[in-house]
Amino acid sequence: MFSGVSAALTRARGPFKRASMRADAFFEQELARREAAGLRRELRPVESAQETHVVVGGRSVLSLCSNNYLGLATHPAVIEAAARAARDFGVGSGASRLISGSMRLHHDLEQRLAAFKGTASCLLFSSGYHANLGTIPALVGEGDAVFSDALNHASLIDGCRLSRAAVHVYPHADIGALEQMLRREAARRRLIVTDSIFSMDGDAAPLREICALGERCEAMVMVDEAHAAGVLGPHGAGLVEALGLTEQVAVQMGTLGKAFGCFGAYVAGSGALIAHLINSARTFIYTTALPPPVVAAAAAALTVVEQEPERRSALHRNAVRLRDGLRAIGYRIPSGDRHIIPVVIGDTEAAMHVADALLQQGVLARGIRPPTVPADTARVRATVMATHTDRDIQEAIEAFRCVRPIARTPR
Ligand code: PMP
Repeated sequence: MFSGVSAALTRARGPFKRASMRADAFFEQELARREAAGLRRELRPVESAQETHVVVGGRSVLSLCSNNYLGLATHPAVIEAAARAARDFGVGSGASRLISGSMRLHHDLEQRLAAFKGTASCLLFSSGYHANLGTIPALVGEGDAVFSDALNHASLIDGCRLSRAAVHVYPHADIGALEQMLRREAARRRLIVTDSIFSMDGDAAPLREICALGERCEAMVMVDEAHAAGVLGPHGAGLVEALGLTEQVAVQMGTLGKAFGCFGAYVAGSGALIAHLINSARTFIYTTALPPPVVAAAAAALTVVEQEPERRSALHRNAVRLRDGLRAIGYRIPSGDRHIIPVVIGDTEAAMHVADALLQQGVLARGIRPPTVPADTARVRATVMATHTDRDIQEAIEAFRCVRPIARTPR
């Protein structure tokens, strides 16, 4: 009987192999197309913990590309909380939140995050991508309209597309254009979505104006605080807190994988909003709950954020030092004092050359290309951490000085 099965398998393998080869040919073709355009992406493993220096290819280099802005990914109290939770509650949550995965740890962190954000309620998601992908379609649908900044993060763009609402993309931070679009759109349910600090440019959305418009034009406002939560505002809650707009922003999304050094994300807002998301956000309903060690680590990271504002000041100081230093050696760095610093080169190949040359100088900073950023704005995106020393920043500036001729070469 077995030999019959194996003969059948052998017969089936012929065409199967051909089909998989046909699929591979398609993949190779796609990869070749990307290669020719200078857009092929590759993974490069980091062989150490995510600290100010990381080991790449067996060599320790200064990292200017981590979102672990406050250095909490390796904070002893955060690590200890994760280890303790793993011992006490295990490593997996076992099910989605609505089945049996909703553990006391999740509820406690949600309450603390709501207090931190100054909202009535809060809901954890598996990642920022999940949060945006699930929340936007829960807020608007067919027959509604969503207004999205042209430089919004991919997860917001995809959330808009998935919602089936009419999507209006307004030019980056252009309040005049946004107002015109809002006035022209007849849909009754309208949503404005924006990053608060833009992930590839480090600039801030004009949130005051957006909220005023939202009020005048009866549109909900949703803000993605991925790069601002833990970093901005008197208590580190984000740009919404810094500008005193908590009451005006209906939906605040934040992540736990960046300044909090862990993983996961949340949406904060009214009790009604959160109850609605529990009932309709598909990326919340149909996925396994965050694991206990991650939740406990995020809670410990929140304590550090609350108790150590000096980390935010150090981050800010390092951002200003690196920006000023790069400007002093001739780079055109946009105004602003944020921790994400776009060193725009323009040409894609040139930007990748600069990143490679920086690595040779002992500095890891990634080249960012289209489609992640608009055409002709390829760049090296440098991010600072609170834990970088003055010497680290000086070393980074020195490396950028050495590669300056490449950055200047017109291609
Ligand atoms: N929003 C923004 C603005 C981001 O930069 C990112 C991550 N790069 C996300 C959402 C997604 O967050 P996560 O990494 O937690 O999926």
